[in-house]
Amino acid sequence: MTEGQGFPAQQQQPPGLTAPMEPRPDHGESTYRGTGKLAGKHALITGGDSGIGRAVALAYAREGADVAIAYLAEEQPDADETAKLVEAEGKRCVQLPCDLTQEEDCREVVRRTVAELGGLDVLVNNAGYQMARRDSIADITTTDLDRVFKTNLYALFWVTQTALEHMGSGGAIINNSSIQAFEPSTSLLDYASTKAAINNFTVNLAAEVGERGIRVNAVAPGPIWTPLQPATQPESKLEVFGSDAPLGRAGQPREVAPAFVFLASDADASYVSGTVLGVTGGKPVF
Ligand code: NAD
Ligand code: MG
Repeated sequence: MTEGQGFPAQQQQPPGLTAPMEPRPDHGESTYRGTGKLAGKHALITGGDSGIGRAVALAYAREGADVAIAYLAEEQPDADETAKLVEAEGKRCVQLPCDLTQEEDCREVVRRTVAELGGLDVLVNNAGYQMARRDSIADITTTDLDRVFKTNLYALFWVTQTALEHMGSGGAIINNSSIQAFEPSTSLLDYASTKAAINNFTVNLAAEVGERGIRVNAVAPGPIWTPLQPATQPESKLEVFGSDAPLGRAGQPREVAPAFVFLASDADASYVSGTVLGVTGGKPVF
């Protein structure tokens, strides 16, 4: 692949796996250097098996955190790979196969994180789902809507509600938004609406829990090379994926993870709450 020219034609079924991807995404395996920013912290990362979530799990482990990752059962090979990366840092990785469209699973992943890691300091609401469709609202079925809204929004409420029963002062919640909240594509009408809602949820929840010393922020990535893309975008889109960003290319998961480290750090981001941090290759997030 030449940077700026997108990616080779390829397709997968959702949720998508890392191994078949060409080229392999870069999660920072050989580059990320930790400096103890999250020493002793316990973090739950939904969708932590692959893509941005894997890069965050790896970075958090190298910063000294133990992590729990929640993911769909069919993603077990990716979850095993993430666990190997985390455990290579001498950190714990609790594996939580689940279906976050189900309320009880959302509550259970939080309870198991707390029970197995011994607490919860950082919640990363990263799991997400999209499916590109032809450009008409008429193509979106109720089944489609249920999957997109339950994964991206209902789960956000259910996981966060339960997490807040366990989080105290110094805690951080970081939601994965998207450039789609600001510059929506017609082919992602349903997904883009959920991402705009996530931004609104972020500032509003920050106002509610600020007095408890808990910070709530979001990261809004631009086009990032993850399994979600070959699993949900047509080949014609992949071939130019990222070329419309001012930096002229898609980003790698390793380029997004440092924003999640910054927002999790109660030293570096102690006065940062209710904000949406763009990591977009130059696309505006306002
Ligand atoms: P990814 O496919 O690697 O990660 C998404 C993860 O969501 C999956 O690994 C899966 O474990 C999880 N997930 C989806 N449905 C689930 C369910 N029902 N139960 C449990 N887990 C479920 O892709 P990614 O691009 O790293 O996505 C992570 C987040 O980043 C998503 O919220 C996505 O919307 C957001 N995002 C991605 C991009 C991009 O270009 N890749 C851009 C902006 C925002
Ligand atoms: Mg995955």
